[in-house]
Order: sequence, then structure tokens, then C-alpha cells
Amino acid sequence: MSIMKKSHEYLRMDKLPLFWCPGCTDGIVLGSIARSLAELNLKKEKVVVVTGIGCWGKADDYIATHTVHVTHGRAVSFATGIKSADPELKVLVLMGDGDCATIGGNHFIHAARRNIDLTAVVVNNFNYGMTGGQYSATTPEGSLTSTSTQGTVEPAFDLCQLAIASGATYVARTSPYHVLPMQKMLTRAIDKKGFSFLDIVSTCPTHYGRRNKIGGPAEMMAWLRDHGVSLEKYEKMTAEEREDIFPVGVFEDRDQLDHSTKYRAQWAKA
Ligand code: SF4
Repeated sequence: MSIMKKSHEYLRMDKLPLFWCPGCTDGIVLGSIARSLAELNLKKEKVVVVTGIGCWGKADDYIATHTVHVTHGRAVSFATGIKSADPELKVLVLMGDGDCATIGGNHFIHAARRNIDLTAVVVNNFNYGMTGGQYSATTPEGSLTSTSTQGTVEPAFDLCQLAIASGATYVARTSPYHVLPMQKMLTRAIDKKGFSFLDIVSTCPTHYGRRNKIGGPAEMMAWLRDHGVSLEKYEKMTAEEREDIFPVGVFEDRDQLDHSTKYRAQWAKA
């Protein structure tokens, strides 16, 4: 059976059509996650997908594994509890930038520090899409949102640097335009033991694209193509050339014993 066909086993095809706005890239990421689960041939009953609140938080509606839909900014905390109770489970946490880095920032950095064996997938569209396009901790400085109508004056978090500094053992950035690398990164992130983090720079044509005059779905996809450059190329660019550019690639991939393994080994000796 092809991976594409097998991936349908991980999706609730009966729930289609998707809830998201036309041209939203959330559906591309969802399809890639299903293909990664199929590629890894994971048993559905051994996978738990935890989501928070927001447009991307609706992803669990379409996933046919175990799913838990929780409160805003607390998806990583629930996922930590699930993983600690049963380390055999493969636990994915799907969050938006508001959920992960703004409301849930503290939970995120401590899960990375503890090296909890989770796969955190952030769809980073630079605003709170579901609640009307307010600015978040990743909104680029100067951008227009419903709560920064003259341009936000706050610097944005670089989520990959935040994850690395906090201790994550796999850290990568991609976008739905870079769909083949995204697929590979997702498969690696899900398969790897330890805290894996994927920053997927995404589009919200309804709010962010419209307010910042980037355009509709096609123009936003072109924006991802033109502003996402490989890490190798990015490293050779000057500070001036890097303005409005985001590097895509793998920033960190190292081995370190995860929290549950260390914790259980310590108690086995007691
Ligand atoms: Fe996607 Fe934005 Fe619509 Fe939410 S509001 S579904 S992020 S386009």
C-alpha cells in the first residue's frame, strides 16, 4: 500500500471538509503528519495527539489516533503527564505560536529542559488566527495585527533558538511551501527519542496576510518561498540581507537520555 493511501488510516476522512479558511496551510501540515505516522507504521492505539486552543488546535478533529483537546497554552503540560504515565506512548503536541510560545511559554521551555520525549509541532502564523488576529510572541516587529494597528513594537521570539537554549534535542524549521523537507523533518522528529521541536512557518491569509498586504493564499505561499532560505545560505548572508528572511533546516539533532528513561532507571535502583 502506498504511504499516501496508508496515511488515510490516520485521518478521520468522515470529518472532511476541513474547518480551516480556504488557503490556510494547516491542512498541508496535517496531511504531512498523517504521512509521517504512516511511514513510521505506528500503531494508532500507541499514538496520542494533544492539541491546545486555536485554529491549529482543531487538527485533532481529523486525526484517528487517540486525541486530547485541552486548555489554551497547556498542551505541553497535558502531554508531559500522558508521557510520564505511559512512556511507551508516542505523544505529539500540536500548537500554534500563541499556544506554545505566548500563553504556554513557561511549559514549553521546561518540557525542553527536562527533555520530555514529545514531538512538539508548532504552526507559526505570527498571530492568534482563531480569535481575530491579535499579535503573539512571534509576530515580527512592525507587523500589523488587530491589536497592533500601527505595527507591533515588540521584538519576536525565534522559537528555534528558544528551544535550543532550553535544551531540546531535535530542533528544525520549515514551512508548508517546503513540503518535502517538512515531511522528512516530521518523520525524524516523531521517530526521535527526546524533546523534538518543529517550527513550521505558516500562513494566515484571513488575518495576517490581509492586514500586512501580503495578499491571499497564493501570494502568501510565494512569500514563504521567497523568505525561507536554507540554513547554509542564511549563514553566508549579511545582517541587512537577513531582514525578513527565515532560515529553514535542522538546527539541532543530538542524543540525550529522555526524562522518563532517566527517572525510571533511578527508581529501579532505589
Ligand atoms: Fe487559517 Fe488564519 Fe483562517 Fe485560522 S483564521 S483557519 S490560521 S487562515
